[in-house]
Amino acid sequence: MPTQMGAPLHQYNTFQPASTTAVQPGYGVAPPSQLVPTVNGQGSSAHQHYDQSHKASLSYDSFGGVTHSSSGGDADRLSSGTPSTSVHSSPGRQQGMQYGYVANSGASSASATTSGPAAAPSSSSSDDDDDEDEEEEEEDEEAGGDTSSSSTGSASPVPNSYDSLEGGNYPDSMPPSSDMTNQAAPYGNYGYPSMQPAYRQGPAASRTDSSPSHDPYSQSGYQQYSQPFPTMSQLSAALGGLSGVPELEVEALRPVNLLQERNLLPPRPLEGPEPNLTPDLKKVNCSPQTFRCTLTSIPQTQALLNKARLPLGLLLHPFRDLQQLPVITSNTIVRCRSCRTYINPFVTFLDQRRWKCNLCYRVNDVPDEFMYNPVTRSYGEPHKRPEVQNSTVEFIASSDYMLRPPQPAAYLFVLDVSHNAVEAGYLKYFCESLLENLDKLPGDTRTRVGFLTFDNTIHFYNLQEGLSQPQMLVVSDIDDVFIPSHDSLMVNLKESKELVKDLLTSLPAMFSQSRETHSALGPALQAAFKLMSPTGGRVTVFQTQLPTLGAGALQSREDPNQRSSTKGVQHLGPATDFYKKLALDCSGQQIGVDLFLLSSQYADLASLSCISRYSAGSIFYYPSFHYIHNPAQLEKFQRDLERYLTRKIGFEAVMRIRCTKGLSIHTFHGNFFVRSTDLLSLANVNPDSAFAVQMSIEDSLADSSLACFQAALLYTSSKGKRRIRVHTMCLPVVNQLSDVYAGADVQAITCLLANMAIDRSITSSLSDARDALVNAVVDLASAYKSNVSNLQQSGLVLPAAMSLFPVYILSLLKQKALRTGTSTRLDERVFAMCEFKTQPLQQMMRMVHPDLYRLDNMSDQGALHLNDTVVPQPHLLHLSAERLSRDGAFLMDCGYVFYLWIGKSCNEMFIRDVLGCPNYASIPPNMSHIPDLETLLSERVRAFLDWLQDNRAFSSMIHVVKDDIFS
Ligand SMILES: [Zn+2]
Repeated sequence: MPTQMGAPLHQYNTFQPASTTAVQPGYGVAPPSQLVPTVNGQGSSAHQHYDQSHKASLSYDSFGGVTHSSSGGDADRLSSGTPSTSVHSSPGRQQGMQYGYVANSGASSASATTSGPAAAPSSSSSDDDDDEDEEEEEEDEEAGGDTSSSSTGSASPVPNSYDSLEGGNYPDSMPPSSDMTNQAAPYGNYGYPSMQPAYRQGPAASRTDSSPSHDPYSQSGYQQYSQPFPTMSQLSAALGGLSGVPELEVEALRPVNLLQERNLLPPRPLEGPEPNLTPDLKKVNCSPQTFRCTLTSIPQTQALLNKARLPLGLLLHPFRDLQQLPVITSNTIVRCRSCRTYINPFVTFLDQRRWKCNLCYRVNDVPDEFMYNPVTRSYGEPHKRPEVQNSTVEFIASSDYMLRPPQPAAYLFVLDVSHNAVEAGYLKYFCESLLENLDKLPGDTRTRVGFLTFDNTIHFYNLQEGLSQPQMLVVSDIDDVFIPSHDSLMVNLKESKELVKDLLTSLPAMFSQSRETHSALGPALQAAFKLMSPTGGRVTVFQTQLPTLGAGALQSREDPNQRSSTKGVQHLGPATDFYKKLALDCSGQQIGVDLFLLSSQYADLASLSCISRYSAGSIFYYPSFHYIHNPAQLEKFQRDLERYLTRKIGFEAVMRIRCTKGLSIHTFHGNFFVRSTDLLSLANVNPDSAFAVQMSIEDSLADSSLACFQAALLYTSSKGKRRIRVHTMCLPVVNQLSDVYAGADVQAITCLLANMAIDRSITSSLSDARDALVNAVVDLASAYKSNVSNLQQSGLVLPAAMSLFPVYILSLLKQKALRTGTSTRLDERVFAMCEFKTQPLQQMMRMVHPDLYRLDNMSDQGALHLNDTVVPQPHLLHLSAERLSRDGAFLMDCGYVFYLWIGKSCNEMFIRDVLGCPNYASIPPNMSHIPDLETLLSERVRAFLDWLQDNRAFSSMIHVVKDDIFS
């Protein structure tokens, strides 16, 4: 939808009718009758409009429901990007069709070729009709794959009965035969006359009402949500809890003139704003590390959102490692009969036997079993159940949530053994690492492993228990890859462990003399697909060069002379759809493909990465990898690999995000495949990947004072248990622009914009994406100035909550993914783009805008005392050369790496006590370790480093950098 489309504010309404159907009632101006154009007509006219508007901006909500259709194929690349390309008319649809078709044909041929054992989906068809709406996400997903494969080759993999059951949040409102293309707005039929200042008129759900309050927050919904069985006293207590808020809000709204104020950083790394909720709700709300919204106060209407000129979206890190996770085993998983929301802390209990859904407001019965509280072992306290006390829970799922018995964890390693790979020398380190971590691979006694190596041919390894040593089977016909043996290549790890160890010990030497320079990566991946199809699982690919043979062969597309071009950057998208098609086939068989690219030369990551992007895989890249010449990359590879091999993994996963009626999710970012409108298919899920979604407000939220979001991730654990992890977040709804700004989360906004800019740079151009980012700042400043600040002063004025926005956007523009004019290899740029799409917020923010501290003069003032350890808390410094001084030592925390910069005149005591060197001159050039010295200063520095490290899943490297480079 057109809104931000870069047009000046007053044009919004002009665009609107052309753009989308019900996506947009928020505009209000358009009468409902205008909201029903056919999709095609609408798409193309929108298209023209967009082409006419030249000012680049990121359309915060451009696609409305429409995107769904195209996102079916590839939310990642196409669905969001520029308005001109996407709305879906042409590219979207083509893509959708293509994928649908491809994925399907692939799936069916796969099951044909792999023959019998592909028992997988077979059960689904029979299950399909039985379970009625007990079906869970997976059902949709599998069913979606199956039905579409057998039936249509048409637009995206969807229409099936599960979508009408489950697909939208509100089945009643869905068109009965939900054709994807019409599906623009599942909520279309609601036809709320959006602009009404309604709010007081709305059929307020269960507002007992003490409403005519002037505070926009305190107004309505606390009653509904605050407590189970709210009483008047509780209510007033809840409202009283708000009294402190306005001050915070005032500070967040304070106009900051960026041309005058220079000290904008808080002393400690920025955290997300606290949503303006009652203490009770705050206490149970989802952790911001899991779930974050760009606006912690949700605008009541799309019109208000448009006015704010800020994007609305969610950032999710759904499978992150958790210290504490309530796991619930229960025969009945309580969900809303209507929208399938899982019961959560923000529902309302009308009485002991009925609860009201917080997403669609349907009143549901409380099942008998739910009356028993396993925690207190007592009856009659449904509101004290763990599901209602925790916003993050995990259910052990029953067979209702399975289409086939949970598969064993299965890991296939696909290894490049060409001459180039031998030269780079990675194989030895891979084998060592896997040997070391073999017992730590997530799984159980059923875990299966397999290996496949390739150069110009493909080599399989028979590891059948009982053999005296592994047998290599070579398939040289790469044009028609077949699997030489079906049951001895993927073997039970426990039974064949000795053979596996044998193989890992001997592999590096086996190819050390290889002179074969060609790489048949595509055929190797086809073989991997066939090998894994029966069970699904994880394929890990190690590649060191451009694939040159067979299907998927690529040619160099990089012109080194263009690396520092300030003009357009070419070839950010794939050269072939081979990898994407294969990825979709893999996704259909529950195979996730992870890629480790260790290459000293251009390898066309833009094409290769598709194999992971569309199969929910991970991508790792080590430019200029060489085991001798590049020790830093080797170390990073080893660290990454250890984390990779041992981190948690979920198989056969799907994720659905639901939100309060009136809100609509339209564009997804991350690595996955969008199976149907809003169901993300994740063949694998790992704890280090994040996702982002864009939202629009389709119907006024005036009926409610709270908006809720729920992400449900259904997966099979490595131990073969079906589990559902559910996160629920609750935020206030506001009707004042100032409140929207007060709750703006500048980091979340920056991350979402980065995702949108990446899409934009592929679908349109890099310069367009950069312009759009700059315009986002300009637009905000002008919107704030004209609507809120009432200040006449000149200069760049922003609300304090957003005062770091320009700095963050400038930082984004300097990132490898988005920079111009600085020499940047194409693969490195593409990798940075991939990272933007999958990094969790905190990690990404450290990369975009690192944290800088001075370490040589840390005091204990304000220090933390943790288990007898004093952890100093030095202040954050601006990332400016003027903050560095030669007599200091500074730490820059970039996420994966710490840089410790030592000034030339740095205090010698610091150098001696912390680095263990007598003086500056004796600090070695490649120091990457802080010694354990028994000095106070060393203890303090190490305590601080450890503390920074504690909050991340991987271990960061440290590089000591000497001042010399400036001399
Ligand atoms: Zn519901």
